[in-house]
Amino acid sequence: MKLRRKKILKAIEGIGTEATRANILETLKRQEYIEVNASQIRVTDKGCVLCENIKDVEISSAEMTAKWEGYLKKIHDGTGTQAAFLGSIQRFIEHLIAVVPQQLATAQIDVTAESQAIGTCPTCGKAVLEKFKVFGCESCDFVIFKKILNKKISRTMCVKLLKTRKTNLLKGFISKNGKKFNASLRLDDENKVAFKFIPFTKAK
Ligand SMILES: [Zn+2]
Repeated sequence: MKLRRKKILKAIEGIGTEATRANILETLKRQEYIEVNASQIRVTDKGCVLCENIKDVEISSAEMTAKWEGYLKKIHDGTGTQAAFLGSIQRFIEHLIAVVPQQLATAQIDVTAESQAIGTCPTCGKAVLEKFKVFGCESCDFVIFKKILNKKISRTMCVKLLKTRKTNLLKGFISKNGKKFNASLRLDDENKVAFKFIPFTKAK
């Protein structure tokens, strides 16, 4: 994949011009995704959250931009049509409109939720804080991941898990071999998060 991307990028001599790049950096700076200090550019925490959340979205892929540029070249050479190009862009934009706002909303929540105490650590009694990817103790290494087997673990679920040592039945876990299942989470004797299977509940 990487090799192919390099090939495409090389074939069309990269994406964008110097001017476009300067513009992009200005925008990122204005929106506080990066900090520019003398000659150094640093990605801010907010920037990291954004990267993490859009890394799987096609719009962040240079390969795709390269593909578009490649197709424009085809049109130039008379081997591609404008209609086909615009049609595929329209489908792509419709897809983005459906998917991206949701992902960015989650990113926003992650930024503002940083460092809020959500409960008491079962191991040491200090505060459990909401962090970027986990709910974790401010003092020891107690941790609950925000995503477990493809299931998003919400703050509410965590609050309940800390209070009662178990959650309600949660739907939508996906096991490593691709099987969907339901289970509640519980804290085991060592305060590690474990699955509690409830008999006779089948995932839909
Ligand atoms: Zn602790």
